Amino acid sequence: MSLSVAAVLAESALRRPDHPAVVFDSRKFSYRDLWAGARRYAAVLRDHGIGPDDKVALLLPNTPHFPMAYFGVLALGAVAVPVHALLRADEIAYVLRDSGAKALICAAPLLPEGGRGAAATGTPVFTVAKEENQESGGPPRLDALAESATPIERYVPRAPGDLAVVLYTSGTTGRPKGAMITHLNVVMNVTTTLHSPFDFRPDDVLLGALPLFHTFGQICGMSTCFQAGATLVLMPRFDARQALDLMGSEHCTLFMGVPTMYLALLAEARADPRPTKLDRAFSGGAALPVKVLDEFEATFGCPVYEGYGLTETSPVVAYNQKAWPRRPGTVGRPIWGVDVEIARADVEDAIELLPAGERGEVVIRGHNVMAGYLNRPEATARAIVDGWFRSGDIGVKDADGCLTIVDRKKDMVLRGGYNVYPREVEEVLTRHPAIDQVAVIGIPHEVHGEEVYAVVVARPGTKQDAALAAEIVAWAKERMAAYKYPREVLFVDAFPLGPSGKVLKRELIARVAHPG
Ligand code: ATP
Repeated sequence: MSLSVAAVLAESALRRPDHPAVVFDSRKFSYRDLWAGARRYAAVLRDHGIGPDDKVALLLPNTPHFPMAYFGVLALGAVAVPVHALLRADEIAYVLRDSGAKALICAAPLLPEGGRGAAATGTPVFTVAKEENQESGGPPRLDALAESATPIERYVPRAPGDLAVVLYTSGTTGRPKGAMITHLNVVMNVTTTLHSPFDFRPDDVLLGALPLFHTFGQICGMSTCFQAGATLVLMPRFDARQALDLMGSEHCTLFMGVPTMYLALLAEARADPRPTKLDRAFSGGAALPVKVLDEFEATFGCPVYEGYGLTETSPVVAYNQKAWPRRPGTVGRPIWGVDVEIARADVEDAIELLPAGERGEVVIRGHNVMAGYLNRPEATARAIVDGWFRSGDIGVKDADGCLTIVDRKKDMVLRGGYNVYPREVEEVLTRHPAIDQVAVIGIPHEVHGEEVYAVVVARPGTKQDAALAAEIVAWAKERMAAYKYPREVLFVDAFPLGPSGKVLKRELIARVAHPG
């Protein structure tokens, strides 16, 4: 059997050649154009010696060059290694070295970091999207060379277990690890989520606000959208005002985002309400407080579905879906063909499953689990035990199979011998009228081991003083067990966010524990 992620674009180019695949900066790229572009990029790369199984790193923001380069690489049977667009030269060099990339395709504006990273590893660079004032010379321009290239005729068929993409984790615990995602992983995740939960229709228009180098934007957003033959409206980087403008002008029917994006969209819609044609919205990547879900639904008049996934599971594991009663506050049930169980978190070298209703580590088995971490047999053996992928998340499954994510194991706070799950505390605190966003963290404490702190972004116009902090502590005390409620409330203007828009708790802890 052969299978290729490249077929996702190739098939839609056959079925609906003239339909817009991508809209960027008011320009439309049809499926025919996008696939031809990818095959032209493939021809240039092939002429420079790239072939099946070679790794090609992509340092590209959300522009049409991303899908052209990505599907061009995959069409050659080569492996795409998308790199976080915000990485610095040393971090880029690490990914190039670790993945053994044979080339780097780098957007011109990212050349200062990308070029230095590639120079450190001796990796050949291609650039795309030359800037007006860019000096001549420098690396060969893939997009310019592609203009005169004859597109390759067809994509190279692959076996289901062949590598398609290497996706680096953000490395909050040690050096980033490359998750090896196969063609089967991607094709199955795209095919199963296309109908349920996403219910993609060919005339849907998805706002592509998530970065394409991250699994959520890349596989759920871009590839599922292309498999459906629908349209992806690309934003170079998320900005709530621009997102609302684009939703209106491009008649977007679908939104996918992480919770911080939902909060920003809500704030923008409150400040400057505008009509949209949004029909459904999908949240993932981090917990979406129920209050935010409710407010978004009331403001935008469309249902919000929350789901759960990880880079290592290509990514979707479970989702709330239209066909089932939606359960806000949970991440729904596993998608087709994927088993999710709860196992004892304290037993590391074996999987001891727990019954429904008990808390433990979420473990996952199915077509979506990666082949392993590149070059890291020990890390792979710790992550995949008896065929189950250990997610590192604490969760609980109810008798109907509906999954609730309690928190990440590594974010748990240990206060006075009790486990405090920040997410539970955050869910309650979010209901306080003065709180817009909150992150609960553990800070080292002489007596209790760790103390529970709440870092708060207050609603605009709120007086952020000691009186409000004390009022929030008292409010929380009334609603939570004594070991859980935060003893300290700190106000910040904004949270540090990772490249996919998630709150970086480790950075917040470092700032609070070591101010200045
Ligand atoms: P790294 O693993 O490199 O530190 P990361 O954890 O952000 O980065 P991702 O693969 O992007 O890597 O995210 C997966 C994690 O996101 C999950 O393990 C889980 O903790 C969290 N997550 C995803 N969806 C949800 C959700 N709906 N509710 C709560 N947490 C979620």
